[in-house]
Amino acid sequence: MAIGEFELIERYFKNRQQSRFDVVKTIGDDCALLAPACEQLIAVSTDTLVSGVHFFDDMPADALGYKALAANLSDLAAMGADPSWVSLALTLPEIDEPWLEGFSEGFFDAADYYGIELIGGDVTRGPLSITLTVQGQVPKGLQLTRDNARIGDWICVTGTLGDAALALESLYGRVDIADDDVDYLINRLYRPTPRLRAGQVLRKVASAAIDLSDGLASDLAHIARQSGCKAVIDIDSLPLSQAFKRNTTLDQATKLALTGGEDYELCFTVSPTALGSVESALAHTKTSFVCIGQMTSGEGIEFKKNNQVVEFDHRGFVHF
Ligand code: ADP
Ligand code: MG
Repeated sequence: MAIGEFELIERYFKNRQQSRFDVVKTIGDDCALLAPACEQLIAVSTDTLVSGVHFFDDMPADALGYKALAANLSDLAAMGADPSWVSLALTLPEIDEPWLEGFSEGFFDAADYYGIELIGGDVTRGPLSITLTVQGQVPKGLQLTRDNARIGDWICVTGTLGDAALALESLYGRVDIADDDVDYLINRLYRPTPRLRAGQVLRKVASAAIDLSDGLASDLAHIARQSGCKAVIDIDSLPLSQAFKRNTTLDQATKLALTGGEDYELCFTVSPTALGSVESALAHTKTSFVCIGQMTSGEGIEFKKNNQVVEFDHRGFVHF
């Protein structure tokens, strides 16, 4: 006989982690009770993943558990917040124990690694969907936002762009990836790395930041609009992995790097005088980054190649 809701929570979600010092009540009461530190802002973000819309039905459950949390943690990284607490609302078509086993394993892999505690949630019956609310803390006044980039600031990104989008293309059967590169690229799609340490050290030095979930072109456009400037991108300077380059033509590479979603890298702006501090702070966290352009007066986003403006369809991932 299938287990009930309470047994499900007991078996797969309760007592899976060491409790944080700032969690007064965790799973099991009507509410969790949390004790935020003094002089901190609470950063909160919610994301829903729906089966067949945001992930394939046959995505391995452990990858899904890992990725659902990692993607949410990336939002905390973009604000410069330290991860603290997460709640999980699960809608399940049925109670499938092997699936729950895998999902919870992947979820707690990420949760333990990044030091965030599962403090509650909900379980309902219906088409498979996962809603997470993460909460983090950032010292008052040091938060990173999208609206503070200034004319003359450099535009930078961490890591490499387009890997996850290329992996997704291969899952759709639209491109072939060399056998040797499959593991790396699929891992970039299934186990993204939220740039939490980078976000924390950028607190004092970056002027604005956003995490790349929908694609560089559409995400950076938010910084440009909210900061009231124009972003000018040098297409030749986009950071691309060797595996990505080996499996794309130049045109494909540019399109995927600019519009492909789910990189979960950080894009940030920094004043020319603070660039040196960014270099040492990010070197300290072993996060690679490059400058890909500059904020100028105007609005929107512009692409340049060999110093010439080029047109580009930069809709990125359109939600509706
Ligand atoms: P209530 O009916 O009062 O909302 P529930 O019966 O839904 O409480 O949940 C009981 C406890 O289990 C609560 O503390 C809730 O936060 C927790 N919980 C429910 N679902 C999950 C889940 N998927 N993961 C973690 N905790 C959960
Ligand atoms: Mg409930």
